[in-house]
Amino acid sequence: MLKVELRSLEKEDLVLEEKDWAQALGIELAPGLCLEPLEIYCELSKSGDLVSAKGWVQGGMLLQCGRCLKEFENRFKSFFEVHYRPQCEGSPSEDENLPEGQVEMIYFEGDILDIADQVRQTILLSVPMRALCRDDCKGLCGGCGRDLNVEACQCQEPPEDPRWEALKNFKF
Ligand SMILES: [Zn+2]
Ligand SMILES: [Zn+2]
Repeated sequence: MLKVELRSLEKEDLVLEEKDWAQALGIELAPGLCLEPLEIYCELSKSGDLVSAKGWVQGGMLLQCGRCLKEFENRFKSFFEVHYRPQCEGSPSEDENLPEGQVEMIYFEGDILDIADQVRQTILLSVPMRALCRDDCKGLCGGCGRDLNVEACQCQEPPEDPRWEALKNFKF
């Protein structure tokens, strides 16, 4: 599980290590984002009220190439670091958080800290805006639509030259 009792953190720092399917770990993800069991590593330490969580998540996701539109598997390993603080009256609301370096502050309730949501966020942030199946993917031909990685362009003629269009409309 990705939960830890605050009491056990009072005594010593803890390391969470898990390897399991997202669903079994209580992490809801689209099927394309969990092609294999997730590997999670997280170091937890507590000082005063503040719990620091630092680690990484590794897994595999299905992406669509932005050039040839083919789906391909992509392995990722993404790092995260957050601070947790118990929610109590007078805690600042989310948008009033003081920037504390780059580390995000998350407020939680109760005696148990659950890092599942943080792991989920980390995976969602790992999805690239524009993925390529390989760096030199040639993509699809704009004319015939062939995948230029596997076959040659089948366009019958070069695209019409706009200069000829202008002549066609010319009235003698
Ligand atoms: Zn591609
Ligand atoms: Zn073509």
